[in-house]
Amino acid sequence: MFRTIKLRLPYDSSLLETGRQFREACQMVLDYGFAEKTYNKNKLNRATYEDVRKKIPALPSALVQTARDTASESLKQTDLGKEIRRKSLTIRYDRRTFRFYPDARTISLTTVHGRLVFPIANSPLIEKYRGEYTNAQVAVDAKQRKMFVMIQVEVDKEIERKVDGEEKVIGIDRGMKNVAVLSNNRFFNSKALKSVKGRYRYKKKKLQHAGTRSAHRKLRELSGRERRFVLDTNHVISKQIVNLPFNIFALECLESAGMRKKKKGRRFNHELGSWSPFQLERFIRYKAEDMGKAVVCVNPKYTSQKCSRCGFIDRNNRKGSIFHCRNCNFQLHADLNASRNIEVLGKSEYFRLPSTSQSLRFDESMPTGMVETSSKPLPSGRGS
Ligand SMILES: [Zn+2]
Repeated sequence: MFRTIKLRLPYDSSLLETGRQFREACQMVLDYGFAEKTYNKNKLNRATYEDVRKKIPALPSALVQTARDTASESLKQTDLGKEIRRKSLTIRYDRRTFRFYPDARTISLTTVHGRLVFPIANSPLIEKYRGEYTNAQVAVDAKQRKMFVMIQVEVDKEIERKVDGEEKVIGIDRGMKNVAVLSNNRFFNSKALKSVKGRYRYKKKKLQHAGTRSAHRKLRELSGRERRFVLDTNHVISKQIVNLPFNIFALECLESAGMRKKKKGRRFNHELGSWSPFQLERFIRYKAEDMGKAVVCVNPKYTSQKCSRCGFIDRNNRKGSIFHCRNCNFQLHADLNASRNIEVLGKSEYFRLPSTSQSLRFDESMPTGMVETSSKPLPSGRGS
């Protein structure tokens, strides 16, 4: 499985310059790809490699190639639909261009001034996630004069993850109306989040309608602000959740249920993007693991139709936010009923897992893709 560790780097002018040249190389490929309507890596490489080397001779060949890959992915993400102006100074590294030395707390990176070794800040994550260091990204924040390296680690699947202390499971239901509803009757409902989103949607519509250049710029700023707001909210909520006196958090595996793939409508994806239960899940997972707690995935099938008291399953049990069992007459808030089902499923999922010793083992037998929140390649620094 893959994990990403983020570590602070000293602010360095060679890396800054490398970031600038990397961005320039990216931009050349982006421009060509957009003009010629292609994101095919081979085509892009054949058409741009020589030009990029000529124009940016100090940028090492291996970085020219990762810049081309980054550009190709950005083109693919936008479906060649719009011109991309790359702002980010993020540099992408692979096995050829970086080497991480966890014991020495150093990292060597290819730069425009050759291969350089940098000290990195210590972090408990270095010990926690030992393994093969496959990819990395250096993020440069020129305004704040800060640099970070995100290192992708492939850790052994058999890694043992005990939870500290007695196992206490809680179920978490995520939804459109409530950000999260917990089986201990706690609701995480962000009114602020909802009203902010409504406001943004209204403003966006107006701006989209205007269609001018400045409207476009404002639109970009707006979506950036919205994204940061959702990010902050998810950070706050996930932190409150993992700090509760429970050490096993049961969640539905939305992604493995094919939720994203099935409903491909643009509007739906947009809603998902700003609602972002995936992000919430990722945050809960990381924060929980850092605290020696665990997350289990449960099958989302029937969690909202099943009565958490008698187990009777019927589609008609749920009407909007009300759960009313057709069998035993039990009534409850629908999300709360779902979270209780998730808790029960989480318990059986957790305790069914094979354990060779008294200590509980987490071999991640759930479908990959969901279990691994940071799936293979690191997201490329996007152009917009
Ligand atoms: Zn019932």
